[in-house]
Amino acid sequence: MGRAAICISAPCGLTLEFSPMHNPPALSLPTPRRVAVLGAGIVGLATAWQLQRDGFEVTVIDRAQPGLGASFGNGAQLSYAYVQPLADPSIWAQLPKLLLSRESPFSLRLRLDPQQWAWGLRFLAACRADVSARSTATLLALAEESRDALQRLLADTQADCDFMPSGKLVMFGSEAGFAAARRQLDLQRLLGGAEQNALTLAECLKVEPALAGSAARYVGGIHTPGECAADCARLCAALHGVLQARGVRFVLGDAVGDLRREGDRLVALQAGGQWVEADAFVAALGTGVAGFARRLGAALPVYPLKGYSLTLGVPEEGGLAPTVSITDAQRKVVFARLGQRLRVAGLAELAGYDTRIDPTRVAQLRRAASEVFPLACGGGDVQPWAGLRPATPTGVPILGHVRGAPANLFFNAGHGALGFTLAAGSAQRVSHLLQGAGVGPRRAGGFSRSAARPAAGSA
Ligand SMILES: Cc1cc2nc3c(=O)[nH]c(=O)nc-3n(C[C@H](O)[C@H](O)[C@H](O)COP(=O)(O)OP(=O)(O)OC[C@H]3O[C@@H](n4cnc5c(N)ncnc54)[C@H](O)[C@@H]3O)c2cc1C
Repeated sequence: MGRAAICISAPCGLTLEFSPMHNPPALSLPTPRRVAVLGAGIVGLATAWQLQRDGFEVTVIDRAQPGLGASFGNGAQLSYAYVQPLADPSIWAQLPKLLLSRESPFSLRLRLDPQQWAWGLRFLAACRADVSARSTATLLALAEESRDALQRLLADTQADCDFMPSGKLVMFGSEAGFAAARRQLDLQRLLGGAEQNALTLAECLKVEPALAGSAARYVGGIHTPGECAADCARLCAALHGVLQARGVRFVLGDAVGDLRREGDRLVALQAGGQWVEADAFVAALGTGVAGFARRLGAALPVYPLKGYSLTLGVPEEGGLAPTVSITDAQRKVVFARLGQRLRVAGLAELAGYDTRIDPTRVAQLRRAASEVFPLACGGGDVQPWAGLRPATPTGVPILGHVRGAPANLFFNAGHGALGFTLAAGSAQRVSHLLQGAGVGPRRAGGFSRSAARPAAGSA
């Protein structure tokens, strides 16, 4: 039966065309068509897995080893229900603090960088209730697809990545914050979101006894039993191994170099001292995507939002460290249990492409960890990390073809704070687009190529 394509005018200024959820069986074709996936973070690797499974011949290109970008030390949350974008009307009231306070979870360091200013203005334009609600609905749909798609990926690859159906508790320190969260919960129920329950403090402690040491800080929480956690870096490493074993070619250690175009198509690019030819290209370059797109005449509103994480060893006996994922809503810090480790992550700085680790930010996260879990974070084994979220102003990723870019170049980029969560579903959508574009091994009925149109209301 034919499948209708869905057209969404994304608030980031692009019109995206998606096919409905669909997971075709693996194909075995005598002459598969060639796709080059640029970028071996979680988004590129999930895309390579999906494309290879759908019968394409895949080459993956990265300037580094797989999984060393934003995917390496992220917050480890598979956050299918918590997708509300940072661009929200509440930002306006917080602006002075954001600009002036170094302790704020979201901070802005202005630079002489036109890309930063342009992104910042589009971000502010997206801080409207209607845009935020639209983005939330778009992200919720993609997150639900991603939940199923990741289950398939894990079942197929048997990747060992500390995956845990941990559930999540978001804890609130004020009655006002808790009340606002309950209102958001009602909205998400209307949108058909996942099961979520508002719990009293006593109920929260039953769900996660390790919160006992900081119970006095909280008034209650929202529990989402269906949320999961996993180690994204370990998943990237596992995917690299599985894909190599299945014949995916990796060209690593060299940035994308010269590009060769013929008419409106990209036909080859240089990497690793060779020309890599392909019928189609998928750019999954994280924060590198905007610069790459500019070289080809396309403008992508993707800019880095720097964040930090710590990975702490958990005491041998366990018990005092959480097994449920915890978010401290006020500090915007997340905690995820990864085997015998606890990942603590947060902070968002609009400060350019600098990945240096600022010791004051590490201390800020360390303080949050020892306040929320005083009995789990005493050890000296702390691995600090900083990474750059590839963020669009609205928080909605860019999937598909973009006006100005070569016709056979597809984007899978701009997943911001949710790239781990959304990688598998985004990969599935991009594979559908490639099949519909006629560059794939088969044309699936009803699939159609994405087309970017001029922004109706750009963010
Ligand atoms: C502190 C922090 C916490 C986070 N927590 C979560 C979370 O809990 N849950 C969640 O879902 N998401 C989270 N995220 C977001 C998530 O990590 C990112 O959205 C995701 O990793 C993006 O994946 P990616 O593959 O697009 O980018 P990356 O992982 O950055 O990969 C891009 C790849 O492209 C390569 N590349 C770039 N430019 C070039 C070039 N010119 N030539 C060749 N190669 C190039 C890079 O080397 C890199 O390997 C967090 C991010 C941060 C920073």
